Amino acid sequence: MTFKELGLVEPILRALQDQGYENPTPIQAQSIPVLLKGKDLLGVAQTGTGKTAAFSIPILQHLYNGAPPKGRRPIKALVVTPTRELAIQIDENFKAYAKYTDIRNTVIYGGVKQAQQVNRLKSGIDVLVATPGRLLDLINQGFITLKHIEYFVLDEADQMLDMGFIHDIKKLLKLLPHERQSLFFSATMPKTIVELSRQILGDFERVTI
Ligand code: AMP
Repeated sequence: MTFKELGLVEPILRALQDQGYENPTPIQAQSIPVLLKGKDLLGVAQTGTGKTAAFSIPILQHLYNGAPPKGRRPIKALVVTPTRELAIQIDENFKAYAKYTDIRNTVIYGGVKQAQQVNRLKSGIDVLVATPGRLLDLINQGFITLKHIEYFVLDEADQMLDMGFIHDIKKLLKLLPHERQSLFFSATMPKTIVELSRQILGDFERVTI
């Protein structure tokens, strides 16, 4: 199995080549076709399996094939992850895979001043990677709207719950459009996580690595 056989567009293939990726990892080979079809996905996988590329590549391909982004466009894809370190890593991955496209991404997290993050948001962003607290904070201040989100990723769901983010996640869910593609990743699937995944996902396919 090659990335080309997965039907990826040329600018993304070229970016993956620059990264030195030769073949999709198992989670990528299983998830990318499901996501390119527009289906929701439940991914039971840990960090280190290549799950970031598994969810970011199909999102980038959808955005690339959509209307060309211009000026101050609404945010179309949202990735929520529990820690600043993960958020930064995911944002860097998006940037690397999107380098030959006009798609723009950014990252927001707490513990630092918000001005720089807000300025970048104002410049026009397609993909936002965020930790829950800062995200809700900037939404409440009117700097972000989730009304146009088409792709929603909840990453490291079990860690999110362990860190006490359940109420924040529930608040976010109320602000997301019903018509959307949802991706839910967790390393473990205890009962509370299964219940949460049911609230987030529509008709989904499950991939376990
Ligand atoms: P992740 O599980 O998303 O944190 O990815 C783990 C590491 O694997 C990251 O350093 C990625 O850059 C790398 N990686 C992701 N996909 C591939 C691939 N298809 N081939 C080689 N390395 C990859």
